[in-house]
Amino acid sequence: MKLPKKVKINEVVLRDGLQLEDKVLTVDEKKALFDQLVKADLRTLEFGSFVHPKLVPQMANSGELFELISKNSNQLELIALIPNLKGAKNAKEKGVERLNFVFSASDTHNQQNVQKSTEESLEELKGILIYCEDHGMLVNVSVATTFGCPFEGEVSKGRIEWILEQLVPLNVETITLADTTGMANPQQVYDLVSEMTTKFPEQSFNLHFHNTRGMGLANMLGAMQAGITSFDASLGGLGGCPFAPGATGNICTEDVVHMLHSMGIETGLSLEKLMAASKTLQQYVGHETPSYVLKAGPYDRKYPVPAKK
Ligand code: ZN
Repeated sequence: MKLPKKVKINEVVLRDGLQLEDKVLTVDEKKALFDQLVKADLRTLEFGSFVHPKLVPQMANSGELFELISKNSNQLELIALIPNLKGAKNAKEKGVERLNFVFSASDTHNQQNVQKSTEESLEELKGILIYCEDHGMLVNVSVATTFGCPFEGEVSKGRIEWILEQLVPLNVETITLADTTGMANPQQVYDLVSEMTTKFPEQSFNLHFHNTRGMGLANMLGAMQAGITSFDASLGGLGGCPFAPGATGNICTEDVVHMLHSMGIETGLSLEKLMAASKTLQQYVGHETPSYVLKAGPYDRKYPVPAKK
């Protein structure tokens, strides 16, 4: 199997993971989770978003959180999601230096999310990039519904290619291809990603999968086979989808790390400390999470049968 030696994990639990949780976590709870993630040697973290607090109450304390966690975080990449220029300006006010601008490949999904067509969001991005260059901020762009849209169904390869033709010349740092509602399958991921990385060889790509229908890790494997070495994941596999209530969330960080380590692929992360953080997360949200490794424990080659509790 053609696989990378090392994979980079971008932790999204404090944003994607929590955003649809009923219980709004306090800044102190989020800070405690952050500290545990840092202990697990996490280097890249999407910590929140600058969207209207009425739309996503869970994210209302993102600015306050950033002020707490940005002290002594030289080696950390702290990223805030923004849906528009206003979000970029609000993030700037708090001193945030890295942004993740999200829009959808399908018009209907983008209209639902930000009341704009895909083309209008691409125009908005140009303004954001000028603003960010003036203020020394780095921008990642996420293309939601790359592998399927809950309203329109299939999103064509031609559509994604057209979007990338617009995006790549804008010199954004990284482009995230996102399977927002878990509609991708491994063959589709491999085919699309292989084609796009061949067509845009200089562009750095990151992949974002949801495990909505149990295909998350398989999709990740498909992307690795196509040469991708950077992925979003959420502690505990948390992450809601407003269009599939009750569905499983993002691919689970500890499950991802467990799989990668057992395949001999480095992540630089401590599985043990991630699991400790994941236990804290369960306490804070007040329910079980979809994490497999947390339920079964990691597979130990020396002691395959877990000790009786
Ligand atoms: Zn997501």
